[in-house]
Amino acid sequence: MGSITVNNLVKYYDDVEALKGVDLNIEEGEFYALLGPSGCGKTTTMRCIAGFEDMTDGEIYIGGELVNQVPANRRDCGMVFQSYALFPHYNVFENVAYSLTIRDLYGSSPGQRIKSFARLMSRRLGKPTDAIYKKVMSILEYVELDHFADRGVSELSGGQQQRVALARALVMEPSVLLLDEPLSNLDKKLRNTMRATIRRMQQELGITTIFVTHDQEEAMSMADRIAVMKDGEIIQEASPTELYSKPKTPFVADFVGSSNIYKADSTQDEKGIKINDNFILLTRYSSTKSSERALIRPEGIEILKEKNDGDNIVEGQVTMSTYFGPLIRYDVDIGGVGITVEEDYTTGTPIYEEGDNIILYIPEERVVLI
Ligand code: ADP
Ligand code: MG
Repeated sequence: MGSITVNNLVKYYDDVEALKGVDLNIEEGEFYALLGPSGCGKTTTMRCIAGFEDMTDGEIYIGGELVNQVPANRRDCGMVFQSYALFPHYNVFENVAYSLTIRDLYGSSPGQRIKSFARLMSRRLGKPTDAIYKKVMSILEYVELDHFADRGVSELSGGQQQRVALARALVMEPSVLLLDEPLSNLDKKLRNTMRATIRRMQQELGITTIFVTHDQEEAMSMADRIAVMKDGEIIQEASPTELYSKPKTPFVADFVGSSNIYKADSTQDEKGIKINDNFILLTRYSSTKSSERALIRPEGIEILKEKNDGDNIVEGQVTMSTYFGPLIRYDVDIGGVGITVEEDYTTGTPIYEEGDNIILYIPEERVVLI
């Protein structure tokens, strides 16, 4: 019912090509993250799916139905905007009931529509019928705001407003939920709580969800699958673990975590990569020739107490030492090239200071060629 397929979605704003042929296949019940930097086209993609934006080219299917010609109010999508877009002069109940009323408005004749709209604008929303009342209250209960039903939304905290926006999207029982950076206006602590809340609701309701974010941690911790977007295109689509361990391009590698990326210079007689004068042996690769870059995650590098005769040992000097509580990060100079190393910190772990010599071991299985 709630699968989403996007084929070759192209969107121009005048001569700005915001989307250059986006393809997405989202399964029913999936929690799917669209991850990318500001301006890459995430909101445009969502607005096209929801039907708020005319598309230049392409096809969008919701639940197997081609919806290109279907207006927004009949697309069976609930959407939450980054700014929440609540009606500031309405109370909590009215904000949530509004979507139900609007659906009725669109479904009815123009005369009825004007009448009920006038009623709405006079802040009365009529006397809500029992059905509407029950429905709205049950969804408010669900987001734990039922006791705030008659409070003005401007008197709510950011997190509460966010929940009103979510309730407003969910009250329609849409088969698809589109969340556009819903947590970016919240402080860090609340953001973590809301992540869990949204994920729990999504699982309980089994609702197909696209979650837009520019925050890789948010995408990694919440989504079943992630599509990384850049300049109006999807660069890679994968599960969080695959995205992290097998990024397809340096951009993806860098966007989903910190990474050391080197040119994969292979020599004639040995398989491996050269990082300046250091040679990292890579026996498990049949060839390093076809790859252009080698990626090494900071936590994949080990710090040795003393040097041994093994392969892939690199000596360097600490240029910066940063303590983060559960981990320590070192920026290390290895013969004119930088490498970043992260080590778990527990009581007693020695901390290297700027200027200290340090011995690193780079296990070949932690090197990813891209
Ligand atoms: P994101 O949500 O990833 O930050 P957007 O989808 O908002 O990106 O924007 C993608 C590109 O389209 C940007 O270059 C942006 O400036 C442009 N854009 C977005 N909306 C409009 C608009 N209404 N008119 C003109 N250009 C727009
Ligand atoms: Mg946006």
